[in-house]
Amino acid sequence: MTALQFHQFICRSDNYAVLVHDPASGATVSIDAPDADAIINALDAKGWTLTDIFTTHHHGDHVEGNLALKQRFQCAITGPKAEAGKIPGIDRRLGGGDAFTWVGHDVRIFDCPGHTLGHIAYHMPDDTVLFAADTLFSLGCGRVFEGTMAEMHHSVNQFRDLPPETLLHCGHEYTQSNARFALSVEPGNAALQARAKEVDRLRVDGKMTCPTRIGDELETNPFLRCASAEIRRILNLAQASDEEVFAALRRAKDSFR
Ligand code: ZN
Ligand code: FE
Repeated sequence: MTALQFHQFICRSDNYAVLVHDPASGATVSIDAPDADAIINALDAKGWTLTDIFTTHHHGDHVEGNLALKQRFQCAITGPKAEAGKIPGIDRRLGGGDAFTWVGHDVRIFDCPGHTLGHIAYHMPDDTVLFAADTLFSLGCGRVFEGTMAEMHHSVNQFRDLPPETLLHCGHEYTQSNARFALSVEPGNAALQARAKEVDRLRVDGKMTCPTRIGDELETNPFLRCASAEIRRILNLAQASDEEVFAALRRAKDSFR
């Protein structure tokens, strides 16, 4: 197994596109397909040929490029079986607990209901990387559109047990606004203060804030920090369950300006 090469860029306005290339086999997978033209240009620049798309969920900003890319490259599309009917061009339907090998690299599927009911994440344990799309963001989490708060709480928290050095790739560059909200609910968190400053610096330079590391998110992301005494004090939920704190955080973020 050789080391994978990653090429990430922002397209649409704030969607991340990530191409993962295996030099040994020549295979390349696009994590979601937000914009076919942008992805084709990036592939051309790298001299890579698309062999696969790993789809995380059915939202248009994640699947819009599927058919154009499939037509051009005859790539295979893997996606969530629970919303397979909404994934254009899907070839292989997978759900939580499923695993497969992509050109010699193990891939494990997590079910992540909440943002959408069938949302899945792709974990490559040997490559120490997680593609969580719109479930877990740096310093935030996805909006709960289709599932329940309890489902989203579970979906986000299942990633706590991954090795802390695991690289977290997200669906959107939302980190700067997430940082403002995170500081409003945990202003005394020194690791968060430092991360917010770093994020501001990166964005001023037009740089991307992802991937981050799971271990860093555990120290800074309020949605992974429902036990924090400061968050509980600020939300006035000292005695509540972690799930209640999570739901209160998510609702507060929905209306945060
Ligand atoms: Zn989405
Ligand atoms: Fe999205």
